[in-house]
Amino acid sequence: MLASMNPFQHIDTPENLTQVLALAHAESMPVCTSGSLATYIPALSSANPNALGLALCTDEGQIFQTGQADCRFSMQSISKVFALAYVMAELGEEAVFSRVGKEPTGDPFNSIIRLETSARRKPFNPFINAGAIVISDLMPGTTPADKAAGFQRFVGSLVGRTDVEQDDSVYVSEKASAARNRAIAWFLKELGLISGEVEDTLDTYFRQCATLVDALDLARAGACLALDGVHPLSGKRALPENCAHTVKSLMVTCGLYDGSGEFAVSVGIPAKSGVGGGIMAAVRDRMGIGVYGPALDGHGNSAAGLWALGILSRQLDLRVL
Ligand code: GLU
Repeated sequence: MLASMNPFQHIDTPENLTQVLALAHAESMPVCTSGSLATYIPALSSANPNALGLALCTDEGQIFQTGQADCRFSMQSISKVFALAYVMAELGEEAVFSRVGKEPTGDPFNSIIRLETSARRKPFNPFINAGAIVISDLMPGTTPADKAAGFQRFVGSLVGRTDVEQDDSVYVSEKASAARNRAIAWFLKELGLISGEVEDTLDTYFRQCATLVDALDLARAGACLALDGVHPLSGKRALPENCAHTVKSLMVTCGLYDGSGEFAVSVGIPAKSGVGGGIMAAVRDRMGIGVYGPALDGHGNSAAGLWALGILSRQLDLRVL
């Protein structure tokens, strides 16, 4: 679509993208062993720690993939990007940001401490669990299943397929082991930031986190963000431009937990990770990138996935920061 205006056209040839993707995969595979699977949600511990899949979707909708790019896994925190975009598109920015801030915390994703100590008494941003649970509460619909179905249809519109569903075993596993998220949600209720029943809001949140995608899906959705909400496959607008801008800005500052600053310096592109091992990245006007590598580093980010994104960024001159 924008190829004639793209100064990186000479790097983004099919041959070069195929070659660089293969290089990134080969050089990142050994890094899998430095990470470990998330175990605090028991169902996530059955993933293959040596899996690594990479996918790219260009501005023209061309797809490149390597490794386990079509292996489905639960989105976990990547769902927070989609949920924010969905609720902003449905209810507008004010409904969201009157309840949640836009600032990074430097704390782990599941930290509760600033809800009490900050004078603002609202979650710092929509990508920490506290902020994401507030967003889940705002989703349109009646029951948690109904809200999640609407959310999954919205995810489908960005990833480019209509059969998006959740992994029930991951959903049940998280629901049964979510003491800390329950503590956060009850705190939010006390602050007046959750209007529904706490268990229902959490149920919606667990369902959105258990939504299944693969690296190819993340590459297509990332490309849609890269094109400010225009879908690379249809050429049609799938998301209002302001929503795409807002989520990408927050991906830069808050997308990789308390590793966001380091990633901005070393890789320099908007991205969002999840403890299921996924990372979605959006490179303005050029491409979306999807990663699957479930062995995580100490911050909860895919260890090999981060390594691969560093290689792709350097080899393809992807840095936008
Ligand atoms: N469902 C996970 C949780 O709430 C998501 C965490 C993540 O991917 O960062 O703990």
